[in-house]
Amino acid sequence: MERLQKVIAQAGIASRRKSEELIKEGKVKVNGKVVKELGTKVSSSDRVEVNEIQIEREEPVYFLLYKPRGVISSVNDDKGRKVVTDFFPGVMTRIYPVGRLDYDTSGLLLLTNDGEFANLLTHPRNEIDKFYVAKIKGIPLKENLRKLEKGIRLEDGKTAPAKVKMLSMDKKKQTSIIEIVIHEGRNRQVRRMFEAIGHEVTKLKRERFGFLTLNGLTAGDARELTPHEVKQLR
Ligand code: URA
Repeated sequence: MERLQKVIAQAGIASRRKSEELIKEGKVKVNGKVVKELGTKVSSSDRVEVNEIQIEREEPVYFLLYKPRGVISSVNDDKGRKVVTDFFPGVMTRIYPVGRLDYDTSGLLLLTNDGEFANLLTHPRNEIDKFYVAKIKGIPLKENLRKLEKGIRLEDGKTAPAKVKMLSMDKKKQTSIIEIVIHEGRNRQVRRMFEAIGHEVTKLKRERFGFLTLNGLTAGDARELTPHEVKQLR
């Protein structure tokens, strides 16, 4: 048995708070009857409707994918390119990625059918560290890396402070490998941050998401999160 507002939030219809409002407003029916009681519990066989539309109730599932480069972080692509859900042929529920990695970025991506979990992890308030390793053109000046650490102005506003570490540099080839840790998730953020200090990112990989790593996986591999990991992320 689950609380009604949790079931609605998990279906991805609304946040937990908004789900509670929907219940109080009389917009939720259980087995055809309006229920306004917030503590109401429902079982998997109960029929739940929100605004007269029955919600889909599926067992929540949680996966970690080592996304290869050249894959779209989406559930389908109108140009027929490979998408992240192609790595889960046996999963019959409608899973979708938690946030996105660019087509050319590889690394750790979570997928789930639990809308509440996805909302929670992508909410900016929930400051989950994401560790990236970037290969860039050129050798950046220390003072420019400091700018990234302090926060740098991009067209959509200043970034939050980041942690930046030079891992290696190749003076002959004029390339550098840099680790950067951010907790925001703006579109192409890492690439744009380096562009802002004059360096093009030629390779980008997300190595870690919070405490989750890619240990034991190679590109294209996926595994289920353990119940303990899911709990820790909530
Ligand atoms: N930052 C980027 O620029 N690209 C990604 O895919 C993720 C973070």
